[in-house]
Amino acid sequence: MADKITVGHVHMSGCTGCLVSFADNYEGLLTILDKYADLVYCLTLADVRHIPEMDVALVEGSVCIQDHIAVEEIIETRKNAKIVVALGACACYGNITRFARGGQQNQPQHESYLPIGDLIDVDVYIPGCAPTPQQIRNVCVMAYLLLKGNDEQKALAGAYLTPLMNLAKAGTEACGCDVMYNVINQGLCMGCGSCAAACPVRAITMVYGKPQVERDLCIKCGACYAQCPRSFFSFDVVNQYEGIIDAIDAALQP
Ligand code: SF4
Ligand code: SF4
Repeated sequence: MADKITVGHVHMSGCTGCLVSFADNYEGLLTILDKYADLVYCLTLADVRHIPEMDVALVEGSVCIQDHIAVEEIIETRKNAKIVVALGACACYGNITRFARGGQQNQPQHESYLPIGDLIDVDVYIPGCAPTPQQIRNVCVMAYLLLKGNDEQKALAGAYLTPLMNLAKAGTEACGCDVMYNVINQGLCMGCGSCAAACPVRAITMVYGKPQVERDLCIKCGACYAQCPRSFFSFDVVNQYEGIIDAIDAALQP
């Protein structure tokens, strides 16, 4: 297909697990690359050395602000990309790099790491450590429909992406406390257990039907709040979900 979008993977202080999750779409990834997107930048997979212009930048990892090359790269990414996606919990929220304190050889001064949204404007969040393959796939397909689709497809893509854009506007801090402050304390928790199921380090257990967070285990990934059905979803989007899934399934037919 001639009219593909261009996508890049920008690797900041991440572990490459987000890229592995993207690759875990298997044939779905090949379909995306075949029909919808050219991968124009990805140091792990392709020999392009400098950040080119692109439609969508999938940025993995946080930014070490004592590493001037990293700071320059994230600014360059914002300049060169129409849509900047914070891919995974480190880019969105800092995640495990929130605990960095420096002092290790051979760069003991590398002590301060920030989510990318603290340095540049971010359009879309894909939270999770790692983010799910399906969600990365969905965002790529929806970005394609947003940029290249007809009016109906653009509207559908807008409906899918809006909650993830709202999440990007909501800030760069995440913690298991989010489900306490923003869900339980607000009288919104219905005890479904999705937050406990989403937590990658099992920091949440359900006690008397409500989540209890072990904060010393929490790595500050934000998955619990993002997966909570009483957090940031609007019913308008949930009600369109069948149409969204149908569009994605249709798009991914090889
Ligand atoms: S409680 Fe678990 S899911 Fe929630 S932010 Fe902490 S580590 Fe992530
Ligand atoms: S995911 Fe379910 S159990 Fe957890 S805070 Fe949200 S509503 Fe409550």
